[in-house]
Amino acid sequence: MTIIGNLKMNKTNTQVKDYIMKLLPRYEMGRHEVVLCLPYTALSTAKFLLDGSDIKLGAQNLCDDEVGKNTGEISGEMLHDCGVEYVIVGHSERRAKYKDNAKAINKKIKIALKNRLKVIFCVGESLAEKNLLKTFETLKAQIEDGLKGLYENELENIVIAYEPIWAIGSGKTPLAKEIDASIKSIRKVIENDFSLKAAQKIEVLYGGSVDNKNCSSIAKLGQVNGLLIGGACLDAINFSQLIKDVKV
Ligand code: PEP
Repeated sequence: MTIIGNLKMNKTNTQVKDYIMKLLPRYEMGRHEVVLCLPYTALSTAKFLLDGSDIKLGAQNLCDDEVGKNTGEISGEMLHDCGVEYVIVGHSERRAKYKDNAKAINKKIKIALKNRLKVIFCVGESLAEKNLLKTFETLKAQIEDGLKGLYENELENIVIAYEPIWAIGSGKTPLAKEIDASIKSIRKVIENDFSLKAAQKIEVLYGGSVDNKNCSSIAKLGQVNGLLIGGACLDAINFSQLIKDVKV
């Protein structure tokens, strides 16, 4: 199982230090692929503190350009150089608030891969799209736009996170059968655009209001290869318990 904590814009460098010092003694290596997606300002500190553990370092965004005149941005090369192994692309908060459109997301994915970063590619429908029964259509468009121009072997470095926008931070989650059906539809798009083998192999995570109570049942769903966690990873002790509770 892959378990990813997205701390979003929470915790200063000092607070991340404290967070990791609480997490590490409660963390059992080798059970899961655990990734911490931290604010840029804490990446170097975290890299140093995580040395010797198998917890991977992740970032939450990267620039859609490679170098130069992009004041305030961070490049894929800079992330890789800091020891970052994963980067989130296409999170719904960035699509909505920071105008990460389909073209920018596709460029970010390509730049991340070029810089040997694994991409956590977020897709998901809004409540309006769900109510209009447009979930599968939305997911298809997001996946095809995001993965446009990629070679099949590059999918090995892509993890898809299915995150219904209405489930993020709301305390609401889809029914188990809805999660499975949406992820199946994601695999169908990969099968049509790449191959059956790629569709079976690609890791698809679920994210959106996963907490200490529902994590183990969601993780057990047939289509789910892991979890992307927001709110429930903010407390290191809670998060370490959640990681222990996911048994598959
Ligand atoms: C997220 O924003 O990616 C997320 C999964 O958040 P939460 O777990 O808080 O719903």
